Amino acid sequence: MNIPFLDLGAAYRELKPEIDAAMQRVLDSGWYILGPEVDAFEAEWAAYCGADHAVGLANGLDALVLALRALDIGAGDEVIVPSNTYIATWLAVSAVGARPVPVEPDPATHNIDPARIGAAITPATRAVLPVHLYGQPADLDPILAVARQHGLAVIEDAAQAHGARYKGQRIGAHADVVCWSFYPGKNLGALGDGGAITTNRTDLADRVRLLRNYGSREKYVNDVQGVNSRLDPVQAAVLRVKLRHLDDWTDRRRAIASAYCDALQASGLVLPHVPAWADPVWHLYVVGALNRDDLQARLGRAGIGTLIHYPIPPHMQAAYTSLGFAPADFPIARDLAQQILSLPIGPHLSTEDAQAVSAAVLEATF
Ligand SMILES: *Cc1c(COP(=O)(O)O)cnc(C)c1O
Repeated sequence: MNIPFLDLGAAYRELKPEIDAAMQRVLDSGWYILGPEVDAFEAEWAAYCGADHAVGLANGLDALVLALRALDIGAGDEVIVPSNTYIATWLAVSAVGARPVPVEPDPATHNIDPARIGAAITPATRAVLPVHLYGQPADLDPILAVARQHGLAVIEDAAQAHGARYKGQRIGAHADVVCWSFYPGKNLGALGDGGAITTNRTDLADRVRLLRNYGSREKYVNDVQGVNSRLDPVQAAVLRVKLRHLDDWTDRRRAIASAYCDALQASGLVLPHVPAWADPVWHLYVVGALNRDDLQARLGRAGIGTLIHYPIPPHMQAAYTSLGFAPADFPIARDLAQQILSLPIGPHLSTEDAQAVSAAVLEATF
């Protein structure tokens, strides 16, 4: 048996004629920076997300960084981040000179626990940055409520949550600004790097648009010290094709997740918990096991690829020794990292392969 964790080539193979034609259209157009293809993707992505604006960017990390800069968050400021996230969430805060202030997750959902946010707020706090981890929305209403009460901005890291719904409404405009990654492995992935922000705030959309293009609205006239972080038009054309298939692909992910949930009921593993208000898009299917390393090794020997998202929480990374945290400062994040395992999931995992994964997991856990 050989079931890889993810086969990125399969998505391309399914849509090869459409994607090849879209890329060829850009190559033939002679327009290689911004332009009509990026404009069209931005309009389509904003509409899909139910947001007034989308701004295409070079990657998801830049989306977070430019969202923070658009809100004038920088040196001396604090931003509340999940202790349990991919390190990019923290790195964006550090990149603008602000300080990431971690808050522990709800152990059931692995997403930031809104009830713990209040205690982390100080006079220096400027924003809360929840992540919709594994494609499952964080509990936005209480996060927005505590933020509003303290005059804080809310920035969503939606890099794993394309199409997910919170209380029936697509992720894309609940908070001040929502940040997206189109890294190839994401639910909506380019054939290279890509990113975007969506927002209903015209001021923030304008500001990110300015910042992504050298701080320039008019060629050789620079209003602010911007950066070069533009979505590539070839990638925009690819994303426009894939966006038309996103809902279908999400349905396939849902079917696999639901099959795993049924089949693994008796496995003794901790299975994903989905609150009633969440409609996740199953970027990852993450189980919990006290003997995780052993389980991963057994599955590996059975030919099944698994990954750990993520093996080292940001507060325990060498990159963050400067903040002086001990592992035990965020014990929920520390313990989750020891117990979680991501099983193969994606629109191109066949029903038979998903059944084989379930069977192998049951064999390894009994
Ligand atoms: C992928 C990811 C990012 C970063 O996106 P890039 O496009 O790789 O820069 C940020 N946050 C989370 C939660 C992610 O999963």
